[in-house]
Amino acid sequence: MSHDCGFLTDLLDDGQVAFTDATRESHAVDWGTRESDHATAPDAVAFPESTADVATVLAAAHEREVPVTPYAAGTSMEGNAVPSFAGISLDLTRMDTVHEVRPADLQIDVGPGVLGSAVNEAVADDGLFFPPLPSSGDLSTVGGMIANDASGMQTVKYGEVSDWLLEVEAVTATGEVFTAGSKAKKTSAGYNLADLLVGSEGTLAVVTRATLELAGRPAQIRGGRAVFPSLDAATDAVADAIQSGLDVARIELVDETATAMANAYQGLDLPDSAMLFVEFHANHGIDEEIAFCRSLFESHGVDQFDTAGDEEMDALWEAREEMAFAVSSYDPDLSPVHPGDITVPVSKLGKIIRYAKQRGADESLLVPCFGHAGDGNVHYSVLADPDDPEQSAVAETVYSDIVARAIEMGGTATGEHGVGLGKREYLEREHGAVAVQLMRQVKRAFDPSDILNPGKLFPETSKEGGRVTLDLPTED
Ligand SMILES: Cc1cc2nc3c(=O)[nH]c(=O)nc-3n(C[C@H](O)[C@H](O)[C@H](O)COP(=O)(O)OP(=O)(O)OC[C@H]3O[C@@H](n4cnc5c(N)ncnc54)[C@H](O)[C@@H]3O)c2cc1C
Repeated sequence: MSHDCGFLTDLLDDGQVAFTDATRESHAVDWGTRESDHATAPDAVAFPESTADVATVLAAAHEREVPVTPYAAGTSMEGNAVPSFAGISLDLTRMDTVHEVRPADLQIDVGPGVLGSAVNEAVADDGLFFPPLPSSGDLSTVGGMIANDASGMQTVKYGEVSDWLLEVEAVTATGEVFTAGSKAKKTSAGYNLADLLVGSEGTLAVVTRATLELAGRPAQIRGGRAVFPSLDAATDAVADAIQSGLDVARIELVDETATAMANAYQGLDLPDSAMLFVEFHANHGIDEEIAFCRSLFESHGVDQFDTAGDEEMDALWEAREEMAFAVSSYDPDLSPVHPGDITVPVSKLGKIIRYAKQRGADESLLVPCFGHAGDGNVHYSVLADPDDPEQSAVAETVYSDIVARAIEMGGTATGEHGVGLGKREYLEREHGAVAVQLMRQVKRAFDPSDILNPGKLFPETSKEGGRVTLDLPTED
């Protein structure tokens, strides 16, 4: 299904619109897109440089009912940023201005295309930082983080991106500019539309400017690693740490399969066991917190718990950040079916990981698990030979069984990667039919013609048979 997007050349300057195959195809994939997603290349890629550009493009696209899919760094894992029905890919990466830093209020105003790491660079001299950065913070943008409600290793202490978003400027599908939220630390003035845009994956409005809250950099930062005799002991230690109120800034789990993969990929020599990597942030009293952590871990039979110097910690965090690459390059004959990202209440962490590992073992498939364990978040991969359709189908079933079990445990199908194309089938299972129907009605209020990132989130919007209109009640 293609759309005539020639009108864009009348709206934007030369160099702000591309119709070449190379540019269109680069916007037909993100990091998680797979063939079965049926993503398509856009008909044109537009590169707005201002809020006015975004508003002009959206108003014109709305008039012509041309789909518009916002695209930033394209690091999404669920096909969130790629068009399902061609049209315009709206690339926000040129809107990468740091507008203003207000250290006295711990605030920064940025364009949506600013990288997460650039936020930290802009405020470092003021002794500030943006705590909820995802592991992809040096690759991904503020707009993408808001739209996917990203979170990261420090979420266990500081919360997710939504907790640090104060105010947004955004443009509706019809081209109207509005602001939502407040620069005040708190507000109870009406519906919080800023919160509604968080996690909306570009389906409601396009974010053109954001005011983020910042935190003071702690005076003391210390990390370490704990080696456990079993995966169960490690997950029990995580749950106990959280339940006991341990003030930990990062607590990341890596199971023995993932450890072996990290060793192979990074040339490391980590023990062949389940491990926790931890980090503490404090202005005083960090030794007491580490001692408390040690006693907790000892009560779960930890084999070894050592704090580490900066260099050693950097290597451990790098190993953790590169885990997705370590998994996918472990065996040239095997590929992960999808990047798994489920989250359960923390008391269920051990249970869901045991289930994932057992389902893999039942089918003789490798299932490495790692993740932001303190949040109950598990990243898992089911590895299969892509040239073996039977094995790939079994791996798909194992993958979905794990998602289904997480939902049954009161958890979520997607802890931080969003719904995109890959998790649509779970939306109703997780939230129920009434809640999803309310979501459709919200979508219609922002986007009456369903032009903004159509085909995402809602289960019925599949590719087969072309574009499917959302199943909404009629006006009368
Ligand atoms: C190696 C790796 C590690 C990762 N680690 C983490 C992690 O620790 N935690 C985590 O949460 N995620 C992680 N991710 C996933 C991903 O990086 C995040 O979701 C990130 O926030 C996406 O940002 P982006 O700039 O790449 O956005 P894109 O992928 O380009 O877009 C994301 C979504 O936002 C929409 N969008 C983009 N810009 C706007 C805008 N201005 N207005 C409205 N909608 C917009 C798009 O349509 C799309 O739906 C990881 C990915 C990789 C590749």
